Amino acid sequence: MQTVPPALERLIRELSRLPGIGPKTATRLALYLLRRPAAQAGSLADCLSALHGSIRLCSGCFAFSETDPCPICGDARRNHGLVCVVEQPGDMMAIEKTGIFRGVYHILHGVLSPMDGIGPEELKIRELCERIERGNLEEILLATSSTVPGEATASYLVEQLKKYDLSVTRLACGIPMGMDIKYADRHTLGHAIETRRGISG
Ligand SMILES: [Zn+2]
Repeated sequence: MQTVPPALERLIRELSRLPGIGPKTATRLALYLLRRPAAQAGSLADCLSALHGSIRLCSGCFAFSETDPCPICGDARRNHGLVCVVEQPGDMMAIEKTGIFRGVYHILHGVLSPMDGIGPEELKIRELCERIERGNLEEILLATSSTVPGEATASYLVEQLKKYDLSVTRLACGIPMGMDIKYADRHTLGHAIETRRGISG
């Protein structure tokens, strides 16, 4: 006997494929949407259908953006000589929330993870080097997480960036070991940016 209407079951199945959402939460969310006015589900559906059509990668920093360049790369008041390298768009959002960083970003879209087959070619590392070679950069702030893959990625970048005449810095201590920066609290992260340290080759 079919106890759950197929349309509801399909929604539950789709929602439970999202990270951090198990079948129980997916069921709760689906039932919630069903109880709300149809317009609310319609508006969510519109956002989902427009998602891939209206958002692209910024050709400067590789952030998701509706415009190219993104609002940060296109902002003349920001310091375009200071580039903060992060793993994921969520890390950039976390740093932006501190309100302390006035430079621009470079998003790697991942970390080195040989076990998962992710090497330098899979990340936006070549693009970072090309960006440096185009000139006018003074400082690269490595803001990968203090996890094992985050540290390995930072070490790899330090090696790669040695040949360039610019200062390479790393977030200061304060971010607990093993912590993903997007989960660091705003003050800790802000302080780690302000007190970033130089890396001597
Ligand atoms: Zn950008």
